[in-house]
Amino acid sequence: MPSLDDCVNEKIAERKAKNEARTLSVTDRRDFPFVIRNGKRLISFACNDYLGLSNHPEVIAAARDAAARYGAGAGASRLIGGNHPLYAELEHALAAWKGMQAALVFGSGYMANLGIISALVEEGDLILADKLAHACMIDGARLSGAKLLRFAHNDPNHAADLLEKHRGTYRNCLMLTESVFSMDGDLGAIEELSALANRHDAWLLVDDAHGLGLLNEGKGGSNSKGIELSMGTLSKALGSYGGYVCASRAVIDYLISASRPQIFTTGLPPAAIGAALASLAVIRREPERGEMALARARQFTDTLGMRSADSAIIPVMVGEAAKALEASRALEEQGIWAPAIRPPTVPPGTARLRFSFSAVHTEDQVQQAAMLAKTIIQK
Ligand SMILES: *Cc1c(COP(=O)(O)O)cnc(C)c1O
Repeated sequence: MPSLDDCVNEKIAERKAKNEARTLSVTDRRDFPFVIRNGKRLISFACNDYLGLSNHPEVIAAARDAAARYGAGAGASRLIGGNHPLYAELEHALAAWKGMQAALVFGSGYMANLGIISALVEEGDLILADKLAHACMIDGARLSGAKLLRFAHNDPNHAADLLEKHRGTYRNCLMLTESVFSMDGDLGAIEELSALANRHDAWLLVDDAHGLGLLNEGKGGSNSKGIELSMGTLSKALGSYGGYVCASRAVIDYLISASRPQIFTTGLPPAAIGAALASLAVIRREPERGEMALARARQFTDTLGMRSADSAIIPVMVGEAAKALEASRALEEQGIWAPAIRPPTVPPGTARLRFSFSAVHTEDQVQQAAMLAKTIIQK
């Protein structure tokens, strides 16, 4: 019988053979957009810190203050005693910002999707998910026990076909998409899917992880009428940690009672909530930060002659995983950190470099990255 180590070593070897093994590198990002990675100072295009708020003095001060007032940890799950006063403040602020009745904060965006989806649908229900929907939506769908079908990426016609064919067989139906797709940077067909959901008596959950703080003067990409469920994260543009969902008061009340990834986990550290609150205040006061990040992304696509950026995420397609790794290493040698995104995160043959732009990148830094990316594309 193979030992545990033999067993995992074999699995790692399989991944290495396909260039799909992963390793951790120590990364110090206190001077973002500069990072020190493996001892080398690089300009990072790898972070989701779109507005540079993870290092903003007001945000850090708010985190410190929250820890000083309420402690380093929440001490218990929210239902049992870990619901420190900053939670209600943040949930009010998020609901108001998104123009919805109520909000619920989760341990992370990943846990929010697990918790929302698995509480709202179950065996006998149907889930229709965009083919490129984030892994945590798919994991939530699996956890729910509902039947999961995927529609072609951003293809409402395919979603309509699936609804016509299958909707009648199931009790409830939940549709899943993103406002900005995390590996491609394109915008979800929210209006069309929302209309479709109305027509077929389905609910639509929009993941706004990469829209909040950037699109619509910072309000995000899931505020059109008729969207009942809008989730996102505190960890990207807000520069902190945690997840949330905005919905009706009734839905939020139900999730508090029914969502296992909310019930069976400790509350977030007060510092994380305090930081997110301060970030929202900065975004309300300075909505132009999101537009700056988008302008940097457009500068990059314009320089490369690519389709103009819709979001702060720009993939530069390479193809094979080995080539993407090589391209990423070549950039690293020139002082630019842009990660190779490989299968199974993206479909086979579509490995890419992913560039994420931030309001704190300078035009010169973006120009430097674009010129180096150009040499890679031409190879
Ligand atoms: C990052 C991300 C999440 C997860 O959010 P975390 O707070 O980091 O767990 C969910 N959905 C999408 C689309 C994401 O990109």
